[in-house]
Amino acid sequence: MQNYILAIDQGTTSSRAILFSLQGKPCFIAQQEFSQSYPEDAWVEHDPEEIWQSVLKTCKDVIREAQIDISQVISIGITNQRETTLVWDKKTGKAVYPAIVWQDRRTSSTCKQFAQDTQLVDYIANTTGLLLDPYFCATKIQWILDNVKGVRQKAESGSLAFGTIDTFLIWRLTKGRCHYTDATNASRTMLFDIHRQQWDSKLLNTFDIPSSMLPQVLNSADEFGKTDPKLLGKAIPIQGVAGDQQAALFGQTCFKKGMAKTTYGTGCFMVLNTGSSPLKSENRLLTTVAYRLNGETTYALEGSIFMAGATIQWLRDGLQLITDAAESESLAKMASANNSVFLVPAFTGLGAPYWDPDARGAILGLTRDTGINEIVAAGLQSVCYQSKDLQKAMESDGARATNLRVDGGMVKNDWLMGFLADILGAEVDRPEITETTALGVAYLAGLQAGVYTSLDELSGQWQCEHTFVPRFSKQERDHAYGLWQQAVSRIRCD
Ligand code: ADP
Repeated sequence: MQNYILAIDQGTTSSRAILFSLQGKPCFIAQQEFSQSYPEDAWVEHDPEEIWQSVLKTCKDVIREAQIDISQVISIGITNQRETTLVWDKKTGKAVYPAIVWQDRRTSSTCKQFAQDTQLVDYIANTTGLLLDPYFCATKIQWILDNVKGVRQKAESGSLAFGTIDTFLIWRLTKGRCHYTDATNASRTMLFDIHRQQWDSKLLNTFDIPSSMLPQVLNSADEFGKTDPKLLGKAIPIQGVAGDQQAALFGQTCFKKGMAKTTYGTGCFMVLNTGSSPLKSENRLLTTVAYRLNGETTYALEGSIFMAGATIQWLRDGLQLITDAAESESLAKMASANNSVFLVPAFTGLGAPYWDPDARGAILGLTRDTGINEIVAAGLQSVCYQSKDLQKAMESDGARATNLRVDGGMVKNDWLMGFLADILGAEVDRPEITETTALGVAYLAGLQAGVYTSLDELSGQWQCEHTFVPRFSKQERDHAYGLWQQAVSRIRCD
């Protein structure tokens, strides 16, 4: 009888449960979407009960569909949308407020006020590796404590728990017995000292958050408790936990310093392994925990782009130039060879390395022969140029990627991947298995369960499906990228 590792992938729009064989192959998948709530401008919330039910249902569904005995599931890994913030009652397990999603900007003005204290901004960067921003958990927790009636008092008395989604799921899966997170998720709270690997009391004071609310921080491969037997029919150990981007880095087996992965989904995240010491960015990239194994922390540099696949969605739903995302490839192939159009997708501002929230998008360089094909091609190219921005920022910080492994929904597009290699001037490797996020926590769980004995063993499982080799000369590359930089400078507001 074959054994499996169950990976729970709790994302921003859906929850998925995937059964991986011990050879790292995704064998069975169940998925369920859940609702998004936008109660006010720039607010984004999720219903914690809906998230929990979607996770439980997909776990049960995938086991049923696979027609396996529950005893064949030997370990569970959890990966999750990062930074999304929950506070719940330790006695009842009920959240005191909906989950405040990472995209939520309700604490922008609070952050602006805090940012006037430049010493605090530096302290946050030096301690947590992050920029002072509403994105992270700290000001979200503070908002819940200050705005939901009776909550601060309960928190002070020690009866409330905080957690990111991983922690909430662990709590629910273990029927409230375990209040844990892993170091990757902790590193996104803006409350965690990534050097000492502990919660930072100065930041807890600054944001007025009682330490009794915080989960214990474990390694990414560790004992996170066993599921209550009534839930899935057996007590299964939860042994791997990582935030989604770090999990993808792990699933891509980027274990050596200099190895990088970029995920091209709705947004885009480039994460580069910087080894055992954290590298402080001078280019507004984030320093974060890549993973922590047996008490040893590996660090990463991270840059994110807000609009990657979302630009293609806009070409489809907003401009209606394409009927589905895949069509973007055939149209781009037909675009004029001397296409001069640049689409700067700053629909919600620009992410790393610009962090310009007020910039707005533009299409530049239109000529009389510009048609749909050229605009679609420019949309795809914008994803590549933004990746180049991140690559350059990392290089300025002294971190040079030795290779680039890619994953996410967009990487099916060969034209896009080809242009990415051209503009980066680096080889781009697309793996056989692109379910890298879930695979990453299946690997972490498998390491803890003793299925795998070393990182080398995991590296040996990674297989390249296609390598895209750059075709541009340096001159062509520099010319094209120079035009992109000019286009970006036209829309900057800062
Ligand atoms: P997420 O996990 O963020 O929901 P996915 O990794 O599932 O995203 O990728 C979906 C995104 O990829 C969508 O925004 C879609 O527009 C884009 N996409 C999917 N297929 C293609 C394609 N062939 N070419 C370009 N973009 C694509």
